[in-house]
Amino acid sequence: MTTDVTGASPWFALGEDHQLILEQVERFAKDRFWPLQARMDDDEWWPEDAFPVLGEAGYLGCTVPQEFGGAGLDFFTSALVLQAVSKWNPSVGLGILAHENLCLNNILHNASPELCERYVPGMCDGTIVGALGLTEPGAGSDALGSMRTTARRDGDDYVLNGTKLYITNGPIADVVLVYAKTSPDKGAHGITAFAVDTDAPGFAVAQKMIKMGMRGSQTAEIVFEDCRVPVANVVGEVDKGVRVVMSGLDLERIGLAFMMIGMCERALELSVDYAKSRQQFGQAIGQFQFVQGMVADIYAETESLRAFCYQVGAEVNGIAHGASREHVSKRAAAVVLQAGLVLMRCVDRAVQIHGGAGYIWEMEVNRLYRAGKLLQIGAGTNEVRRIIIARELLGR
Ligand SMILES: Cc1cc2nc3c(=O)[nH]c(=O)nc-3n(C[C@H](O)[C@H](O)[C@H](O)COP(=O)(O)OP(=O)(O)OC[C@H]3O[C@@H](n4cnc5c(N)ncnc54)[C@H](O)[C@@H]3O)c2cc1C
Repeated sequence: MTTDVTGASPWFALGEDHQLILEQVERFAKDRFWPLQARMDDDEWWPEDAFPVLGEAGYLGCTVPQEFGGAGLDFFTSALVLQAVSKWNPSVGLGILAHENLCLNNILHNASPELCERYVPGMCDGTIVGALGLTEPGAGSDALGSMRTTARRDGDDYVLNGTKLYITNGPIADVVLVYAKTSPDKGAHGITAFAVDTDAPGFAVAQKMIKMGMRGSQTAEIVFEDCRVPVANVVGEVDKGVRVVMSGLDLERIGLAFMMIGMCERALELSVDYAKSRQQFGQAIGQFQFVQGMVADIYAETESLRAFCYQVGAEVNGIAHGASREHVSKRAAAVVLQAGLVLMRCVDRAVQIHGGAGYIWEMEVNRLYRAGKLLQIGAGTNEVRRIIIARELLGR
């Protein structure tokens, strides 16, 4: 039994269309994905029909023009989808983020019309699953500078060699947007993006990675051994891959922050329910001021995060209308940094309110706690986020 304890506040700053979509996706995610949480976490299982089901409901490719099979809506709407889904199943939220923000959008905005035709409609209806391959064993925070994966031109193909690590959706993807060095002597300015079909010869999933949280989300190490990719699969211009990475990164960070609103909301609901139902010393633990304080803090922090996220989300809707990239990068890094800090404080309090029960693996609050930590690491760690903000404030 859960309680909507957020009252009227979820609708703060939202227009009617955004409100409706948020409500609709929440109902859908609670119905379809909440019941799968436990199995996904216990067995590291991904429901095979998750993407087609999301596609059929119209929740993939929110920002994709209708002629490519998308909904033609704004970025804010796609972020609300992430918020609503992640509240009821953070692993599914992460899968959508990797598919849509990291892969689909970058293909749509940078690839040739032929590649868009080939991939985008299927990615909108969920029959093609996407992933992003950037991180490597020796290239994490310094993903571009330390990249070792290479792509050598050979006739009408490029031949890729290298390893990519921690790739979300890697074990289930049909296409991976891969970054590789085409001009190794040019450093970060010699990187190219490729759309690589996972049935290409020389592509392999080396291992599925076992994680502490977000366990339903599938994560892989992938390898390229003389993997042949047609020249036509270059996304953007040769040696201009940095432009492709950078074009999507800010939106990814904001999407991640919206995911965390949903997770904080859920931490609050679980905490309130438990505080009302758990009896100690002859009364509900919610009658004790220490517990009341923790509940109040989760609420206050969640609402302040929501306000900041919605503000930045609205600003980013305006990227196309002239907001400078530097401004947006600083704001995106700040909102995801703040979201990660708030989320971990909220889930920590939520586990504390649950006492010993919160420490038990199968409890939803325990899953939230384990899932939350990733969101201070992926898409740039807290430290990298701080570096970006400070660079914009203080200069290089
Ligand atoms: C579950 C999961 C899913 C992921 N999904 C994807 C994906 O789909 N695609 C993809 O390409 N990648 C993905 N990643 C990779 C993720 O983006 C990286 O893990 C992250 O960028 C950090 O890189 P790293 O793990 O190599 O850590 P490192 O870069 O090795 O960092 C280790 C520590 O050093 C700190 N540090 C590093 N450099 C600095 C510095 N200059 N100043 C201060 N501190 C510093 C870091 O903040 C961190 O605390 C995923 C990771 C995980 C765990």
